[in-house]
Amino acid sequence: MRIAEALRVSGIAAVDARVLLRFVLGWGDAHLAARPEQFLTEDQQDRYFSLLERRRAGEPVAYLTGEREFFSLGFRVTPAVLIPRPETELLVELALERIGPEARAQVLDLATGSGCVALAIARHRPRTRVTATDCSREALDVAIENARRLDVANVTFKLSDWFSALEGRKFDLIVSNPPYVADGDPHLDQGDVRFEPKRALIGGADGLDCIRHIVVHARRHFPGGGWLFFEHGYDQGARCRRLLARAGFAGILSRADLAGTERVSGGYAVRA
Ligand code: GLN
Repeated sequence: MRIAEALRVSGIAAVDARVLLRFVLGWGDAHLAARPEQFLTEDQQDRYFSLLERRRAGEPVAYLTGEREFFSLGFRVTPAVLIPRPETELLVELALERIGPEARAQVLDLATGSGCVALAIARHRPRTRVTATDCSREALDVAIENARRLDVANVTFKLSDWFSALEGRKFDLIVSNPPYVADGDPHLDQGDVRFEPKRALIGGADGLDCIRHIVVHARRHFPGGGWLFFEHGYDQGARCRRLLARAGFAGILSRADLAGTERVSGGYAVRA
């Protein structure tokens, strides 16, 4: 079968079919576009069709190829971690705005998953020391592999249930993309999310359990003052700002993603 035909008969979104075929061939997009008449080998065809079948059954493209780009860096992903999303780049942007290129800041990323947020910050601010935690050993192993592949050395990984393994540690900036979907939210039964770890998605009855925990406990890790930023659901901005205000944060703000949805909130913990 020729490349053009393989793409035509895929039975899935054209953009996904191209990614899967490129993955099987190990080619870039331009290479694929330039060779519509080339024949696939039998082995390539078999592998492509088995991926198409899994995609038709709903498996996310990123889990099929084992990779996803985030902040222009290539990350390895497995079903042990959430698939990095473009809106989460906001967390990195807010962090980079507050850490100067030469700053030797101590940064904490809670629930790091694939490590995408921690590693993007570390890569762009080589003088910072980033600590990245997760409560899942499997997730940490993926993050550690990503650090190795991206050759980022200024990140250390730690198994920790939120702040439990961080007693006495001080930070200048804390970021997190915690689980924040409400238990029973119909969104959990749709699309890619069905295949992602529930533990990385669900934040209790109203989705805010983890965010409440982070906001309340972050304060004592900022003895010298510091910023906290976290991602949240499309309708949680106002509640997150109230939680931050009640916990004594100053300079509270929310920032919208490209779709215009409030997606990240945070504030400044003044010096203790
Ligand atoms: N944004 C994800 C979703 O759409 C949720 C990610 C998270 O809980 N941190 O389901």
